[in-house]
Amino acid sequence: MPRRTKIIATVGPASESEPVLRGLIRAGMDVARLGMAHSSLEENAERLALIRRLAAEEGRAVGVLVDLPGPKVRSAGFGEDPVEFALGAEVQLRVGDRGSRATVVEVDYEAFFHDVEPGDRLSLGDGRVILELGEQDGERMAARVVHGGVLSGRPGVHIPSEHLSLTAPTPEDLRATEFFVEHEVDMIALSFVRTADDIDRLGLPPHPEGPLVVAKVETAAAIDDLPGIIERSGAIMVARGDLGNECGIEALPVLQKKIIRQCIALGRPAITATQMFESMIKAPEPTRAEVSDVANAVFDGSSAVMLSGETAVGIDPVNVVATMDRVARHADDNFDHHGWSAELAELHLTGTEDQGTSITDAMTGATARAVEELGIDTIVCVSGSGFTVRSMARFRPSARILGYSANERTVRQLALSWGTEPVHLPVDGEVDLRVAEALELARASGGVSAGELVAVLAGTDPRSRATNELRLERVPEAS
Ligand code: PEP
Repeated sequence: MPRRTKIIATVGPASESEPVLRGLIRAGMDVARLGMAHSSLEENAERLALIRRLAAEEGRAVGVLVDLPGPKVRSAGFGEDPVEFALGAEVQLRVGDRGSRATVVEVDYEAFFHDVEPGDRLSLGDGRVILELGEQDGERMAARVVHGGVLSGRPGVHIPSEHLSLTAPTPEDLRATEFFVEHEVDMIALSFVRTADDIDRLGLPPHPEGPLVVAKVETAAAIDDLPGIIERSGAIMVARGDLGNECGIEALPVLQKKIIRQCIALGRPAITATQMFESMIKAPEPTRAEVSDVANAVFDGSSAVMLSGETAVGIDPVNVVATMDRVARHADDNFDHHGWSAELAELHLTGTEDQGTSITDAMTGATARAVEELGIDTIVCVSGSGFTVRSMARFRPSARILGYSANERTVRQLALSWGTEPVHLPVDGEVDLRVAEALELARASGGVSAGELVAVLAGTDPRSRATNELRLERVPEAS
């Protein structure tokens, strides 16, 4: 059985070459994440085209996720070598983008002095260095290092979102969105979402016509508007770096479980992100604590686990994905499918007013029970937008989920869906035709054998996202 938890790998200087990207795909990368903070739109469009070509050559459905920086404030670059900040050292802060060093940190944000005040604690590089702010003197502000560490590149500067004048999406986000919609990207992640309306401001048509929108939950405000944000998004990322800055690192494990649970209730894939194998940026093996973090993210119900710097700038990106593959597989093999059904029973899955959703909720729930009772090994989902497949996946069946769609973008979007093997269906139209073709493909690929009992889920109306048909039938012989 293929691995069920999906792997997202961030592409950066260490992984953008053709051989490394091919290596990542072969090692198990399901979704490639392109960050906007360090490269231009055109450079990322080239990476997108290369990933598409390599995925086709490797015969794999690989999704591409563009991660918009949002109102992320960064410091000016530290140059080639990492810079050490010693505990207690005095530092000057000023607005600018010419360059930073150990004594003067430039913050690339015009309204910086407006949004902070003396006494604030400023976290740089996801908490690697923490400064306590002193008095402002003209164009400079004094600060003292209260948590020492090393910074490199252009680290993020965390300003609590309730003080930040900037909101998501920024004008740059909107420009990048327009650019990548033209390049038919599969998924777009929006950073620093505070309310469900932030997602609407991207102005995207619903997927699969448009890209699947991934809302990054990383502000305290987003936690307060969680159901609304999840409902308006295609998927959610638990962005633990900034979320830890906003809510305190001690709150992260509980928030992670809470966010994932609500995603499960609403049928949206949840991505657990940041520092999963952080030590592998420099080391050939993760720490034991990191291995447990990944396995626990799987047990919490993550659809996907994400790699950031580990594959973007690490010493051996292919080894990182291969290690993640091993760890996630082992967690998948030990997933408590039975206990999960009992937990799901406690979630109110069909509480929505949208009829299409509640029909699909009921149908996928019935399918989960039927496959367990009858010992069925494969669920064949025939879907237009991928909605049925995502709804099915949250039941975490031990049966395989084959996700068929006539829409190629849906197929790539399903690369993010837990346990789903996405397959392109070369026919569209009548439900009987689509189901017959899906069963034929499943048999021909060796996924199921003639005579085997399978569950087939489909919608009779290809324009509606509701699934209203469940068949338990035997796979026909080759025609
Ligand atoms: C995070 O903050 O955890 C995150 C994933 O966002 P980014 O890497 O864009 O800062």
